[in-house]
Amino acid sequence: MSGIKPARRWQPAFYPFKRESFGRRLLAKVEICVKGPLFGCRMCGNCLLQETAFICPMECPKGMRNGPCGGITPERNCYVDETRKCIWYNIYERAIKTGREETLLEVLPPLDWDKVGTETWGEVVRQIRKVGTGKFIGGIMSNDKVKKAEVWNSVFKTIRQPVWWHGDADYHPAPSGDPVSDFERRLREGEFVVATEVTPPLGAGTDKLIRNIELVKPFVTAVNFTDSSSARPKMSSIACCSVALSQKAEPVLQIAARDTTRTGLQSIIIGVNAMGIKNILCVTGDNAKTGPSPTSNMNFVDIDSVQMLWMLRRMRDDGIYLDGRIIKNAPKLFLGAATSPFASDPILQAIKDRKKVNAGAQFFQTNLIFEPDRLDPWLEQLDKRDILNKVFILIGVAPLKSYKIAEYLHMKVPGVTLPEKILKRMEKAGESAPEEGVQIALEVIDKIKRKQGVNGIHIMTLSWESIVQRIVTESGLGK
Ligand code: SF4
Repeated sequence: MSGIKPARRWQPAFYPFKRESFGRRLLAKVEICVKGPLFGCRMCGNCLLQETAFICPMECPKGMRNGPCGGITPERNCYVDETRKCIWYNIYERAIKTGREETLLEVLPPLDWDKVGTETWGEVVRQIRKVGTGKFIGGIMSNDKVKKAEVWNSVFKTIRQPVWWHGDADYHPAPSGDPVSDFERRLREGEFVVATEVTPPLGAGTDKLIRNIELVKPFVTAVNFTDSSSARPKMSSIACCSVALSQKAEPVLQIAARDTTRTGLQSIIIGVNAMGIKNILCVTGDNAKTGPSPTSNMNFVDIDSVQMLWMLRRMRDDGIYLDGRIIKNAPKLFLGAATSPFASDPILQAIKDRKKVNAGAQFFQTNLIFEPDRLDPWLEQLDKRDILNKVFILIGVAPLKSYKIAEYLHMKVPGVTLPEKILKRMEKAGESAPEEGVQIALEVIDKIKRKQGVNGIHIMTLSWESIVQRIVTESGLGK
């Protein structure tokens, strides 16, 4: 059985929210008895198996439906539960082996919770009847690949892409009008841009936040505010962005899918856009497992980062909410996504990154990079996927202040690894560790600056905002 189903159903299957008819309940029982042992099916009622190499993505603890998160361990295990393989890594590997990797580019919808726990076979049968049973059987038996795909999609695409979503695998460029922010303008003009992070305060006072914004503002184009990074509550990114605006700094609002529902996301976007926030970075967010005890919900996100991008792009370009209502004053947005170049094999990573660009990402900010030479195979794959000319890439850089911080990043932060060489340098530096950390950052930036396809750097200060001036000046990237 393991040849068919590489993992096992870790979380229990869903039950429907309302009482179904006897016939549907019976069909649901048969379906779970067949699809459970075969595919690890959890009865999500919104089946995507045909698009995910016949491995159920619901085996991912976060319920990711559009590809892996950036937290796969070097052993290709899931960082939420390291005893299991990352299910999305398995899906990608099998799709590549069977030549079906292009199907992974289609932007798939979030769950319709009205259907969760119910059977899907009835819907498939009804759709086959609509298309014509003879035509369907003839089509899938055909040797003509195009005809086969057409008839297959006439049944399954209708099911997996409901009218309220209409996802596809195409690139949808942003409108060609004026840039919506200074950050976008500078990138479009070809400037090598510097963005940085200012750490949100733990309390409600804003004095230190304002001081830190003032410290970095003269040296960077945009300031990111994380959304409860490492699943630890702090001042919200919206509040920090509002303070940044009042200080005349340009904010990038990070929104973590972990704490956001589809309803909340749409309301937040309308609200923050009215406040003047235009740059949005969509991230799935670190799992609650990385946060403090007691642990919050580790299961399931309502929407993943790809779905966030798709929804926000449609709000901006089509002027509609997810439910189809027209937005009179559509938001003006510059949309970004996080990416983790070393999370998986560059070929697989490029598939996920292409999907984010298709969904709406206009800029990428990467995870922390300490080995710039390892970026080359990833950039090559992005080039092969024809996206280097469609997305601005800012590489994440961090000045390490101590060996303890270096060790923490290496051991505890999903998707971040530090090479032995750097860990040793930091350990050996002793009291001069902060200086060594700055030198490492400058060496990394020096290499990044020369890379084709890279448009800037994103300095993650790790609460060391006062070092931004030195890093920017000594690396020759002053505004
Ligand atoms: S590593 Fe991420 S994508 Fe993979 S199974 Fe775990 S949570 Fe899901």
